[in-house]
Amino acid sequence: AKKGAKAAPLRTAADFKLRLTSPDKVIFPEDGLTKGELADYYAAVGDLMMIDLARRPMTLIRCPSGRAKKCFFQKHDTGSMGAHVLHIPVTEGAGTTEEDYLYVEEIAGMLECVQMNTIEFHGWGSRIDPLEKPDRLVFDLDPDEGLGFDKVKVAAVRLRELLADLGLETFPLLSGGKGIHVIAPLDQSREWPAVKSFAERFSRAIAEAEPETFTANIRKNQRTGRIFLDWLRNQRGSTAVMPYSARAREGAPVAAPVSWEELDGLEAANAFTIRDAAKLLERAAGRGLKGWGQAKQALPEA
Ligand code: ATP
Ligand code: MN
Ligand code: MN
Repeated sequence: AKKGAKAAPLRTAADFKLRLTSPDKVIFPEDGLTKGELADYYAAVGDLMMIDLARRPMTLIRCPSGRAKKCFFQKHDTGSMGAHVLHIPVTEGAGTTEEDYLYVEEIAGMLECVQMNTIEFHGWGSRIDPLEKPDRLVFDLDPDEGLGFDKVKVAAVRLRELLADLGLETFPLLSGGKGIHVIAPLDQSREWPAVKSFAERFSRAIAEAEPETFTANIRKNQRTGRIFLDWLRNQRGSTAVMPYSARAREGAPVAAPVSWEELDGLEAANAFTIRDAAKLLERAAGRGLKGWGQAKQALPEA
C-alpha cells in the first residue's frame, strides 16, 4: 500500500451472508481463536485463496471439536456441505469406480466448508477441467525431525536452481508446518503419468547426486539429517495444502506464499497465522509477490 493510504477494511464472513453456527466456539484452544475468527480470516483472504483453490478437486480437514480433538480428511462429497460446495464425478482405481469429489468456485463455497468445521483446504494438482492435465508440480520438502529450518531453506533454493536449469520457474510456499513446498506451474499440456514420472525421476536423481541433503525414499529411517523430497504429491488423486489455507496446528498457522528474495530472512514454516490477514493481503499486492504462482511453462522433456 502507498504511504499514508488507508487500507480498505477487511471483508468478513458476514459480507458473504454466511449463516455461521457457534461462531464463538474456540477451535484453536492454545490460541483462543474461534470458528468465527477462522471464517473471517477466510473471507478476508478469499480472493487470494480462490486463485489456486477454485475448480480444483479438494480434500478438507474437518475438526468438529476443534484442532486439538479428532479431525478427519474428507475427499468425497457426502452431501449437505452447502449450496456453493459443488461436486464432480471422478473415476478412481482402474476406472471401475466413480466418486463425487468436492470443489468450490466462489468464496461462499469455501465459507460453507468452514461452517462445516473445515480448518484446512487441500487440492489436487489439476483443476476439474482438464482433470487429467495438472497445472502445477509440487515438491514437498519434508525435513527429518529436528532438522533446522535453515537447512530446509537451503534445500528449497537448491531445488529452485535445479528446476531453473530445466527451464522451470518455481515459487516457494511455507507449508504452515515444518517444510516448504516448491511449486512449478504447468501449462496443462501433459497428463498425470508424464508429470508423476518427471517428479519421480527428478527427485531420485537429486537424491542420488546430493545424498547429504536429499532423500527420495519415504521411509523415515532413510531420512536421518536429510530432507525427504516428497514427489508423491504429483500423482493423480494426491493433494497438497492450498496457498493461504489455515493449518489445524498450534498457533493457527497458514500456508503462505513467499518470494525467493525474502525466504532467507524467514525463521519458520509457520511464520504467518490466521491473525495476519491484513498483512497477507498487503504482501500479496506488493512487488515481491506479484505474479506468485503464475507461469505458463511446459513439463521439461527429459
Ligand atoms: P509439513 O511442512 O509439516 O510437512 P505438509 O502440509 O507438507 O506440512 P505433509 O505431511 O508433508 O504435510 O503432507 C503433504 C500433503 O499431503 C498435505 O498437505 C496433504 O495435502 C497430503 N496428505 C498428507 N497426509 C494425508 C492423509 N493422511 N490423507 C490425505 N492427504 C494427506
Ligand atoms: Mn510436507
Ligand atoms: Mn510430505
